[in-house]
Amino acid sequence: MKRLIDVDPEIYNAIRKETEREAYTLELIASENFVSEAVLEAQGCVMTNKYAEGYPNKRYYGGCQNVDIAESLAIERAKKLFNAEYVNVQPHSGTQANMAVYFSVLKPGDTMMGMNLSHGGHLSHGHPINFTGQMYKVIPYGVNKETETIDYDEVLRLAKEHKPKLIVVGASAYPRFIDFKRFREIADEAGAMIMADIAHPAGLVATGLHPTPIPYAEFVTTTTHKTLRGPRGGMVMCQEKYAKVLDKNLFPGIQGGPLMHVIAAKAVALKEALTPEFKEYQNQIQKNAKAMAKRLLERGFRLISGGTDNHLMLVDMRNTEITGKDAEEALDKAGITVNKNTVPFDNRSPFITSGIRIGTPAVTTRGMKEKEMVKIADFIADTIDNLKDEKHHEKTRKTVRELCEQFPIYKERLV
Ligand SMILES: *Cc1c(COP(=O)(O)O)cnc(C)c1O
Repeated sequence: MKRLIDVDPEIYNAIRKETEREAYTLELIASENFVSEAVLEAQGCVMTNKYAEGYPNKRYYGGCQNVDIAESLAIERAKKLFNAEYVNVQPHSGTQANMAVYFSVLKPGDTMMGMNLSHGGHLSHGHPINFTGQMYKVIPYGVNKETETIDYDEVLRLAKEHKPKLIVVGASAYPRFIDFKRFREIADEAGAMIMADIAHPAGLVATGLHPTPIPYAEFVTTTTHKTLRGPRGGMVMCQEKYAKVLDKNLFPGIQGGPLMHVIAAKAVALKEALTPEFKEYQNQIQKNAKAMAKRLLERGFRLISGGTDNHLMLVDMRNTEITGKDAEEALDKAGITVNKNTVPFDNRSPFITSGIRIGTPAVTTRGMKEKEMVKIADFIADTIDNLKDEKHHEKTRKTVRELCEQFPIYKERLV
């Protein structure tokens, strides 16, 4: 970054420090990952200069021949990866992808169902402070208090009672597989459409390690930056018959010019996702999550639903003095990044919480395996056992740094 250092040393320094933070701490936020150098190069390219309102070969601007190549490749690769009939790769984010679908099938005041945020759902699935909660009549569903897994019978009961036009299926903090076929049966009984939001498990879905919603849902949305390991952004897949209405509602409906440099980077990430190495990577994410969960259970922690099927787990500290906020702060001092998270039926506020969410996608990208997961679970348990001991955190931070140095994210120095 030889120009940036001269033009804007403040931003240069912030980027340099972030590069070091990522390199020398353990990233366990379940929604984060590290993109490849190739993805970084594509995202940092001149395509950021180009206006390309419209879609490939149907643009409102001249000079789109090269960005058309990028967008067409992204679309083709996404279709192949997920076995989707139609794909729109333009959403700036996962929330934008969802918004495009809502605008395609709902009118203000219509009824929709989505998973309760406090049970693992996402803000954009109908939370009162999100546009969805303000524009639509939202019926939330959640998990069963005993099993802590989705209460499908309750979903069916609510769907028959409220007759939603759309049922949103997907979550941000749900450690188990989702039964999309069951949701299809429920939707059919209630006369509803389905939008499956696979933002979190997209990489697992793409490689067959998590059930796919593709045959069951009218619309499937995702982010490209979580397990899928691409640039920050969103994507919508749908059945061919909804292609026109979707495209129109995304642009000009809710967005202007697409971010062509990001779309180029999405194409690169999707190409990577089609390789055998990517399937091996996803498999390791899952094995790592299981190893981490096993060790945390051995160390006396309670996990929501008792474990994990995917890339994340939710530690439940409802029955302890320790809050999610305390744990997050102590772990941060120890060089371990997690996020506090409400657990189902939490008695603490969303700013305090009784849970932490832990995910393995980013540490797996560094090449860490089961052996390292056991070590990390021990760091977590020891840190929480010594919550107020600043010296202990300082010592753990050094050990964490040494572990990180053995598993560099990038081969060469980037900044
Ligand atoms: C992360 C996430 C999103 C939103 O992604 P943004 O890009 O942050 O808008 C949407 N839905 C689910 C289920 C998510 O986990």
